[in-house]
Amino acid sequence: MFFADIPYKAAEKNRILLQVTEDRIPHAQLFLGREGSGNLALALAYASFIYCLNRTENDSCGACPNCKLTHKLIHPDLHFSFPVVKSDVKKREETTSDDFLTQWRHINLHSPFFTFHDWQQTINAQSVKPNINTKECVDIIQKLSFQSFSDGPKVLIMWMPEYLGKEGNKLLKLIEEPTDDTYLILVAQDQDKILNTILSRCQLMKFLPFSEEEIKKYLIEKHDIDEEIAQQLSRVAEGSISKTLDLVKGGEKNNSALLFDWLRVCYKGDAEEMMAFVNETVSWSLDNQVRFLEYSLHFFEAYFSWMLSPDITGQMTETEASVASKMKAIIDREKLELICKVINNLIFYLNRNGNHKVNWTADTIAIGDILRNKTQSSTNSLIFASESLLIQ
Ligand SMILES: [Zn+2]
Repeated sequence: MFFADIPYKAAEKNRILLQVTEDRIPHAQLFLGREGSGNLALALAYASFIYCLNRTENDSCGACPNCKLTHKLIHPDLHFSFPVVKSDVKKREETTSDDFLTQWRHINLHSPFFTFHDWQQTINAQSVKPNINTKECVDIIQKLSFQSFSDGPKVLIMWMPEYLGKEGNKLLKLIEEPTDDTYLILVAQDQDKILNTILSRCQLMKFLPFSEEEIKKYLIEKHDIDEEIAQQLSRVAEGSISKTLDLVKGGEKNNSALLFDWLRVCYKGDAEEMMAFVNETVSWSLDNQVRFLEYSLHFFEAYFSWMLSPDITGQMTETEASVASKMKAIIDREKLELICKVINNLIFYLNRNGNHKVNWTADTIAIGDILRNKTQSSTNSLIFASESLLIQ
C-alpha cells in the first residue's frame, strides 16, 4: 500500500512520515477512526514505509526487495492479527489469524477500505461473532519474541482490537515493555469497546471521517463522476471512503431525478406507473435500494432547512434546488415528517428481507396518500400490498 493511494489525510500522513524519518516510532499506537476513515490503509502504507530500503520523501518505493514483500503483505516480520471464527479444520480455541491469512491478504490487496461486514462475509462469519482469542495472544507474544527474519524491525498490525476479550491483558507486558525494534499498531473503530488497560498504554492517533468536499473531489477526480452526482453521493457517503466505493460500485444514479420521479408517481397514483417504478427499483440490489432511500432522507433534511431559509441552498445541488422549488407546492413540514417516517420504515423492512415488491408498493401508495392529504392510507396500502403478494 502506498500513501499516495489513500486520498487526503495529509496531517496523519505527515505525522507518520516524521515518526519514521526522525526515528521515533512509538512502540504501541492506536489508529482510531470510524469505518471508512482509512486507518487500516494508512497502517499498511506505514508498514511498507518503515521497511522500504529506498524511501522517497513521502512514500515507499514499491520496488526494493522489502517493498516487494510488504506490498503483498508477505514480509516475514510484518504480522497481522484480526478477528476470526473457527476454521474448517481446527477447533475454535486452536484457530488464529494465521489460518485466515490468505483471505486477509486477498481482501486487503483488493481494497483496504473494506468494512467489518465485508470481512465477516469473506470468512463466512455471518452468524457467528468473530473474535481474537487466547491462542492468538499467546502466538503474538511468541512471534514478537523471536529474532526478526530480516534483521530489521518487527511490526504487528492488529485490526479491530475491540474483538479482543479479557485475554487481551496477556498483551499488556508486550505493549508496556516491547522488545527492541518492535512496533504494534492497533487499528480500531470504537474506543469504548477496547480494553482500558490496552487503551491507556497506546499512543493515540485519531482519524476524522472524510469531509463531503473531499469525497466529492475524490469521486470527480479518481472515478470520473459527474459533479452533480458526486455531490449527491458525497452526502450519502457520511464521510466513509468504504461507503463511497460501494456507491461507485452500485452505479451512478441521479438520485435527485429518481426521487422526484418517485414522488411524482406517488402523487399521481396511477397504478400502472407505480408498478413500473416499483418493478424498476426492486430490480436493483438491496444495497442500491437502501442507498437511494438514504439519499432521499438526506435530501429531505436539506429540503427542511431550505424551507426554513429559502435563500440558503448551500446544501443542495442546482438540480436539487430546482426539485425543491417544484415540491414546495405539495410538501409542507407535516407531510415531510410523515414521508420520512415511511421511508425509515421502508429501509427497516427491506433490511429485514421483507418482500421488497410489497414493501415498495405499499409505501409508494402511503406516500401518495400523504401527498394528496388522504387519511385512509394504511387501509389502501394493505389492500394493495395483498394484491401485490398475489401477483408474485
Ligand atoms: Zn521500497
